[in-house]
Amino acid sequence: MKIRTIETFILRVPLGEKRFYSSQAAFPERSSFLVKITTEGGLVGWGEGGQYGPPEPPATCVERVLAPQLIGRRADEPVRIFEDLYAFSRDFGQKGTYIEALSAIDIALWDLWGKSLGKPVHALMGGAFRSAVPAYGTGCYYPDHYRDTERMLRELGEEARGYRAAGMMAIKLKIGLVPIALDAERLAVVRNAIGPDVALMVDANHAYTSASAIRMGRALERHDVLWFEEPVPPEDRQGYRRVRDAIDVPVAGGECEYTRFGFRDLLLGECIDIAQPDLCCSGGFTEWTKILALTSSFGVLTLPHVWGSGVAVAAALQAIAVAPPIPFTAAGVPLQNEPMIEYDRTHNPLRDDLLTEKFSLVEGALTIPTGPGLGITVDEKKLARWVVTTPDR
Ligand SMILES: [Mg+2]
Repeated sequence: MKIRTIETFILRVPLGEKRFYSSQAAFPERSSFLVKITTEGGLVGWGEGGQYGPPEPPATCVERVLAPQLIGRRADEPVRIFEDLYAFSRDFGQKGTYIEALSAIDIALWDLWGKSLGKPVHALMGGAFRSAVPAYGTGCYYPDHYRDTERMLRELGEEARGYRAAGMMAIKLKIGLVPIALDAERLAVVRNAIGPDVALMVDANHAYTSASAIRMGRALERHDVLWFEEPVPPEDRQGYRRVRDAIDVPVAGGECEYTRFGFRDLLLGECIDIAQPDLCCSGGFTEWTKILALTSSFGVLTLPHVWGSGVAVAAALQAIAVAPPIPFTAAGVPLQNEPMIEYDRTHNPLRDDLLTEKFSLVEGALTIPTGPGLGITVDEKKLARWVVTTPDR
């Protein structure tokens, strides 16, 4: 089973009036970078690389640098290929673009390997702990009209009530774009809308200094918030520790971290209670299994960060299937010792319409696909609608 071709796809969907803000930026569009690897026998594997950043750098990295090294190699050796390519790019690509490109290749190779054996990726990684996983809704971003406070707060309450009505047992609110007092008001609106039984998490996307994060943390304590995600910039390890020591809310992070080496440092630095590697950034399934080994040895619950297309959602579902309860109990409790899957609820046709299959919530949970590989089918006719071609590609 040798690799014959590696194709890359940059997908873009403008959001128009649906654009929204996190603490860091406006989102005027959704984009994804996909890789399609085909073997000499005609088997096809799909992978995705990157998350918030522009898709062109990892695409170029695959096209110009990595793909030429892989044509003709065995496709059923994803771990070895990852190690070879990581060693090749170590001196210049330990984080960022190269690892995003490697992640896309790795996910596609595991998909291919599973398809060649007729088994889902979670079976190749050693077996699933669960067949479905409760989902938490990521939403409650800032609208384009966030300066119209009254309207923003009214719509926020309506959005949060909608998630509760859809059966979600947990939702995540974005914070950090506006002053702490107004975010505390937003928090109260959401808590009132969902009631005491739905779990509430917040994500600052590293908007604060540790001192500001601790001030925000006091408001989080009052509203029984389950975790405080990315309170400070990812490089500020000492800030993470200060926040974690000062407040009675667990600290989550890791979506901007790469490979087992990055997570080793987060763990040794005692920065996080919950680790959130993104499969499409941190090194695909190959690094996921190694990050899991590290986090489980530190007693840290590990939940994939998920932001991309349907391919990214499928990869995260395969990955979360093999995450053990931490610690083990006879009957796991979601978000206590059992993982949940992040389920982005913002508008994104690349997530909802790219695949032949549909992800849907059943009693608040997503089913883990059991078909070969990732267990999904990319609809290439639909994909063609969103592919961007530029003169130099
Ligand atoms: Mg986040």
